[in-house]
Amino acid sequence: MPVKKIIIAIDGWSSCGKSTLARQMAKALQYTYIDSGAMYRAITLYFLRNIIDWTDENQVYEALKNIELDFSANENTGVAEIYLNGENVEYVIRDLIIAEKVSEIAAIKAVRIFAVEQQRKMGARKGIVMDGRDIGTVVFPDAELKIFMTADNAVRVERRFKELYAQNPNITIEEVKNNLEMRDYIDSHREISPLRKAEDAVVLDNSNLTQEQQLEIALRYVKEKT
Ligand code: C5P
Repeated sequence: MPVKKIIIAIDGWSSCGKSTLARQMAKALQYTYIDSGAMYRAITLYFLRNIIDWTDENQVYEALKNIELDFSANENTGVAEIYLNGENVEYVIRDLIIAEKVSEIAAIKAVRIFAVEQQRKMGARKGIVMDGRDIGTVVFPDAELKIFMTADNAVRVERRFKELYAQNPNITIEEVKNNLEMRDYIDSHREISPLRKAEDAVVLDNSNLTQEQQLEIALRYVKEKT
């Protein structure tokens, strides 16, 4: 009998390793990985490039009409990367300039409606792992497996700092720490779809886990659900 394909929702705080785990799981299970945060980051990139005043509802509405987001697998890694109007923006969207504005933009109702509609379409065929902030609570409240990830603050700052420092040696640990704190605050206090643990989510704290260990635990959860 074929193994049942499910939807796996991974939510949690910034930089606690959601996308790493989601990628690992997608590879192990031959599922599709969708990085919902990349969608909000790509929208932010578009707004910044086109000098959209996102406090103006009309400008946001008109801008969203001109945004097309797609995911396509990188030929070498097999991992899906995001395209904004046909341009691969997977790497530019990781910049701190984007991280500084993304939470503000992701709190806008029209932006969330736009992104969530596309995320739901992508999930229609099952066999997906999606990570974000509201996947288990809003996007897929019926997801068969919901994981809420967390890790110590210091561990999270260190991880993100290492990642960003590799691309920009001028970055400071203070900047990274402030950005994570600000995003977590906005993401968990916004009116629409705030970050919170779904009641039926399992908590995975990976502060002291290796990547192999976290994958092992997560695959155990999948086994229980399939
Ligand atoms: O996951 P990542 O850190 O790339 O997400 C960037 C930002 O996008 C988050 O800080 C949050 O403001 C927003 N986001 C969101 N809902 C999601 C995924 C991301 O609001 N499902």
